[in-house]
Amino acid sequence: MANVAFIGLGIMGRPMALNLLRAGHALWVHGRRPETMAPLAEAGATACASPAEAARHAEVSIVMVSDTPDVEQVIFGDFGIVHGARAGSAVVDMSTISPGAARAFAAELRQGGVEMLDAPVSGGEAGAIAATLSIMAGGRPEVFERVRPLFEAMGRNIVLVGGNGAGQVAKACNQVVIAATLQGVAEALTLARRSGVDAARVREALMGGFAGSRILEVHGKRMIERDFRPGFKSRLHQKDLNIVMQAARELGLALPGAALSMQYMNALVGSGDGEFDSAALVKIVERMSGLEP
Ligand code: NAP
Repeated sequence: MANVAFIGLGIMGRPMALNLLRAGHALWVHGRRPETMAPLAEAGATACASPAEAARHAEVSIVMVSDTPDVEQVIFGDFGIVHGARAGSAVVDMSTISPGAARAFAAELRQGGVEMLDAPVSGGEAGAIAATLSIMAGGRPEVFERVRPLFEAMGRNIVLVGGNGAGQVAKACNQVVIAATLQGVAEALTLARRSGVDAARVREALMGGFAGSRILEVHGKRMIERDFRPGFKSRLHQKDLNIVMQAARELGLALPGAALSMQYMNALVGSGDGEFDSAALVKIVERMSGLEP
């Protein structure tokens, strides 16, 4: 059993940390808002005042925060992991961030004798709670093997994709597929509604065929029930598509479908729905044709 630091106790981080505790690992946790640490402390974790303090006790420090600058701050900031981590320990960033930044952070940590894996996830809050996340990792194979038992406590489909940054590239690819599918589901259910046909029955009929997907199942249900509690916040989906578009620009690559999805997410966040689940995208599709909610 390992001594693990866990930084970032939001929608995803909290259940992931709880699953590590349940698997028998010792946890030192840090949340920016102290109240986010209470459920973990009740379950047996030690609450820490900073990422550095948590890392001081750990062989592996897991980070699950929002965006690239947040990961940078948690690792390299004034009270960041680097000020507590021992040489030989590892930092595992499970947030979704830029692949280039993931490579740069790994190189900087290695200078101090600390290893790094990028290990973003897919599967949403439900996957985090059920410990069935898909984990796509980038880094050295020996570090990946060391951390594997921790991944197994949080996920099911665990793949070392390649070197540092490769996990984040896989996650960007994941988001290209998710965004296009989400768009398709929102448009299909809106077509059903405008046609005067029960969208719930359409979803049910489509689930068994080639149009069936986890997005149709989970997000389609949210669209029909108008349940837009997050889930996956629209502003984080927008952040992910921005990572995709940045990579496309750097590579000189045309990704017109992802670019269109990005515009829809801009519209959704710009409408004030950034804190709601990305399934709220259906509202933008509806508004374009004058459909009332
Ligand atoms: P969330 O609920 O917004 O939680 C993010 C957590 O990170 C919050 O507790 C936040 O603290 C903390 N945080 C952010 N910036 C920080 C900083 N600079 N220093 C310290 N703590 C900081 O988001 P989430 O849904 O858990 O997502 C976390 C990551 O997983 C994101 O990269 C997201 O893209 C990715 N992801 C999410 C899902 C999903 O379905 N939700 C699925 C796959 C991947 P405060 O509470 O103080 O704001």
